Amino acid sequence: MRRTIIAANWKMNNLMKDAITFFSEFGDTALKSENEVIIAPAYPYIPLASALAKKQNIEIAAQDVYPKAEGAFTGMVGGKMLADIGVSAVIIGHSERRRIFGEPNDLIREKVKFVQENGLHLIFCVGETLPERENGSMFDVLKEQIHSAFDDNLTLAPEKITVAYEPVWAIGTGVTATPEQAVEMHAFIRKILKERYGYEDSRILYGGSVKPENLQGLLSHEDIDGALVGGASLKASSFMKLVNF
Ligand code: PEP
Repeated sequence: MRRTIIAANWKMNNLMKDAITFFSEFGDTALKSENEVIIAPAYPYIPLASALAKKQNIEIAAQDVYPKAEGAFTGMVGGKMLADIGVSAVIIGHSERRRIFGEPNDLIREKVKFVQENGLHLIFCVGETLPERENGSMFDVLKEQIHSAFDDNLTLAPEKITVAYEPVWAIGTGVTATPEQAVEMHAFIRKILKERYGYEDSRILYGGSVKPENLQGLLSHEDIDGALVGGASLKASSFMKLVNF
């Protein structure tokens, strides 16, 4: 049985006052839920979020990590710092990092390796652009994104490797993949994880304009193990509806 994950990616949103309001309204929603709840605030608010989420059964994640423990890497946040502030999960390969910051596959591979070596929960994002969907290359794109990032001998426990299928054309656009489109891609990812890497029980999340109104339709399919949510995770009122779907 794979436990559903509802994960929030706040990106570069929510200031200190917003985080305080969020957690006070969110209360014990996660404690009462059967679902696993993950929240990824921006770096400066991670300690605050960890303190506010204490004993609430919420996993606090980082939105990225630089794949070194510490050192002369101006502007970066590394593994030792994340461990120091109690972060146990990291989002890697988000399309905004690939596209806006030009993150290449070899850096993403290093990050995945780093996350594995440090025993963190990996939330690994993949997804095709609209032209790639339109020209039918989405399966090849996903295959390449996964194979280029994963070592053949992945050793992370299945519950610590989560893949998020996030079609780039659905992120922040208000256009959601249909459940059929998502299911097709999730089944493809699951096949790769099983056949090439021996992972049968890892969770595969859908991400891309998830809202309280469309979550139920997506999660009614057994291959969709939860959601990675941007916009609709910023306010407690809407994120609570997702967690309690
Ligand atoms: C995301 O960026 O991970 C995401 C899914 O964003 P949104 O829900 O806003 O489309």
